Amino acid sequence: MKNIVSQSEKDSQFIQKAELLTRQGAEFIAYFIGLVSCLAVHILYLVLFAMNGVRFMAYFNVFSVLFYAVSIFLVRVVKEKLNLVYWALVEIIVHAALATWCVGLEPDFAMFLLMIIPIAFLMPNKNKVMPFGIMVVSTALYGVCHFLFREDANVLHPLASQTARDTFYMINIIIGAFVMIYVTSIYTVLNIYTESKLRTQTEQLRTMACVDPLTRLNNRRAMWEDLRRICGESRESGKHYVIGLGDIDHFKKVNDTYGHDRGDEVLSAVADMIKEKIPEQGCVSRWGGEEFLFVIPGADIRKGCDCAERILQTLREYRFTDGDREFFVTMTFGISEGAKDAEPEQIISQADKRLYKGKNNGRDHVEYTD
Ligand code: GH3
Ligand code: MG
Ligand code: MG
Repeated sequence: MKNIVSQSEKDSQFIQKAELLTRQGAEFIAYFIGLVSCLAVHILYLVLFAMNGVRFMAYFNVFSVLFYAVSIFLVRVVKEKLNLVYWALVEIIVHAALATWCVGLEPDFAMFLLMIIPIAFLMPNKNKVMPFGIMVVSTALYGVCHFLFREDANVLHPLASQTARDTFYMINIIIGAFVMIYVTSIYTVLNIYTESKLRTQTEQLRTMACVDPLTRLNNRRAMWEDLRRICGESRESGKHYVIGLGDIDHFKKVNDTYGHDRGDEVLSAVADMIKEKIPEQGCVSRWGGEEFLFVIPGADIRKGCDCAERILQTLREYRFTDGDREFFVTMTFGISEGAKDAEPEQIISQADKRLYKGKNNGRDHVEYTD
């Protein structure tokens, strides 16, 4: 239980932080950093290609720099920001293929053709086909580059010095590593956010399905799960369990005299009292309108009666208020003990009969015989 609580606390803290960041433009900042980095890298390539006399690629990088400058401007304007990433991926593919054609395989521009494939898949895509398209084109181009440009004869402008080739290679490796770190970090954060959100929503749904909103007790559906579990354990261990079915006396009168809202308050207070008096291993539920059912595993009828008596005593002494008026309510309990082979339905039905008997015998007491 402790684990579940701390996990759900962690989840809601993470969701709150993530949503706060998103409100403060984290999405915009993520795209902005990505595109500004691309712009900076292409300015660097432009300088390096120009310095090494690879004119074609220098011109292409002028186009790339303009492309990223426009993209940065568009981040503010475009609604579907992912489209900017797709266009950037296309630019990277074309750039990598052309650079390989211009300077050969050794500086390894071709590695970007493979590197962008996971990026295409890791993005929070709505379009499920696009990443596959990018993968096919990019992998095919990688193959073509390796086939065509093995020989320097097919390369447009082989780099003259080993130093130039090494410089390009080192820069490409470093850029590649940064790209992977950046993209996988964003992906990991998005993943944690989605998982936390899912866990929180599942927990909310479970609560809605199992917990009575007025009394915060388990409802009948959840109680059946507890009953089946406790019966199964009793079958294995041979230990008995005790069931108590309680019903508030003349509750209709409470509603009629003090109003439905006051009636709700009574139900809620009675639920708290029962919860407080049930031993830790026991379970309690709102069984119906003003009926409550508890079950205590490993207990006999005496323990069940004691527990119900304690609840009744507390209730008798408790004073509800309605403006200046004070009033109290009482309850009647039917108690029944379950043995190893008993079906819970039987035991509940027996407790119900005893409750009925208790109602006919003057209410406000615990009935444990037929
Ligand atoms: P008895 O002593 O025989 O049990 O009499 P009673 O008046 O308690 O029994 P009855 O079954 O006639 O009335 C139960 C009342 O409980 C009727 C219904 O309006 C009320 N009730 C059921 N659920 C709720 C609820 O959620 N809120 C409120 N305020 N009243 C409820
Ligand atoms: Mg009643
Ligand atoms: Mg009733």
